[in-house]
Amino acid sequence: MTEETADLDARHRARMQRKKALIDAGIARATDERGLLLVLTGNGKGKSSSAFGMVARALGHGLRVGVCQFIKSRTDTGEEAYFSLDEDCEWHVLGEGFTWDTQDRRRDTETAERGWAVARRLLQDPSCDLVVLDELTYLLSYGYLDAETVLSELRARPNGQHVVVTGRGASDALIEMADTVTEMRDIKHAYRAGVKAQKGIDL
Ligand code: ATP
Ligand code: MG
Repeated sequence: MTEETADLDARHRARMQRKKALIDAGIARATDERGLLLVLTGNGKGKSSSAFGMVARALGHGLRVGVCQFIKSRTDTGEEAYFSLDEDCEWHVLGEGFTWDTQDRRRDTETAERGWAVARRLLQDPSCDLVVLDELTYLLSYGYLDAETVLSELRARPNGQHVVVTGRGASDALIEMADTVTEMRDIKHAYRAGVKAQKGIDL
């Protein structure tokens, strides 16, 4: 070993020791444990798939999970096929397709209200540890559901219950109320290069 690499190694070690001290101090400060509201928003891909990643984590720990999909009407997705096998996971496909497919505001509102009734039951069930409200933001931005009612029912959920909301255009009020908010930023998407939705990646 040359003197130069020995010096490099020592500097790296010292830097990592300082970093570890900072990280350990941060971890020591974070001691609370409570049910969280997480919002995954933005135009980039990864909102629903991130939510389903948390579903896998929760089920792996033996927690009980409820998933509500508010827009999708298809019941042939890989995530539903996989997670429905787990008796600790309740999976509800509550949509009737995108608003530009249905083109019917009154029908969309009725669908949204029926869907929210299912979500409400989960949000009132203390034995449900994680509730995923996939694509909920659209029901709020199109005014199919009353935002204040939804927010107050989210707020009134059992202590310790985690909720993940996904969808583009999360409102300021929802972001304000959430504990963790992530915006997926669209840098590139294969769709724009002519690639269709593929199993395992998009559905
Ligand atoms: P995913 O379910 O893949 O995590 P998402 O929940 O972030 O995506 P959605 O708006 O729910 O995004 O879109 C669902 C479908 O649209 C998926 O097939 C996804 O790959 C695709 N998609 C997501 N973002 C984009 C984008 N920026 N451009 C084109 N297609 C997209
Ligand atoms: Mg999605």
